[in-house]
Amino acid sequence: MDRRGFLQVGAASLLVAPALALAEPTAAEAWPTGCITMLPKAPVRRVAWTVDDGSSTQALYRYVDLLNSHPELRMTFFVLSSASGWRKVAPELAPMVKSGRVQIGNHTARHPNLQQLTNSQIQRELLDCHHFIQDHFGIDEKPIFRPPYGDIDSRVIKAAADVGFTAPILWWGTFASGAGVASGTVAGNAKQWLLNGRIVIDHANSMSTPRAFPYVMSLLKQRGLSTVTIKDAFGHL
Ligand SMILES: [Zn+2]
Repeated sequence: MDRRGFLQVGAASLLVAPALALAEPTAAEAWPTGCITMLPKAPVRRVAWTVDDGSSTQALYRYVDLLNSHPELRMTFFVLSSASGWRKVAPELAPMVKSGRVQIGNHTARHPNLQQLTNSQIQRELLDCHHFIQDHFGIDEKPIFRPPYGDIDSRVIKAAADVGFTAPILWWGTFASGAGVASGTVAGNAKQWLLNGRIVIDHANSMSTPRAFPYVMSLLKQRGLSTVTIKDAFGHL
């Protein structure tokens, strides 16, 4: 995408959740080499629906319900381990993680801007979340991770890779979902961004996306798009 599109996506990625710090978008939103932003070309039409944070436990349960009622649906969750809801939904998600239709990724323990941390602090953030995922989902989620706010540079990439997180997953399309966002806004963003080959970012921080689920599901059907996890699309990175 061109630089303008890139910046728009970055700006729209702002996390809107009262429990979490807000960040202003900057020119640094142009992600550096080594970041994954789209799916490889494939003979089938597909999109990666990725869901971050999980600060709304109510919303997390709605994602579980959606997955239970649509066996064909595949998703990737980037877990923020300080969000208490993951503990509650982990037993319900675990079988889906085991079967491969749900992938779990690392979104740090406390949602900092990794560019503002030292190398060892970056690694601590990732490893604290990693241990949580090991304990509650029984898996090793490496090598994928998603930096909070999409804030990443070559130093962060190297520090993360040194502890096994070699695949930073960014995005090319957003639902711009969060607290205080109308479900109509989410639906409009889904219409704009749910396209073949995209990695789309969503947030389980409010009911704004769950209220738009029927529309999102109809859009996928209408566009002949199947959903894939990051591992479905890339294999073992
Ligand atoms: Zn986040």
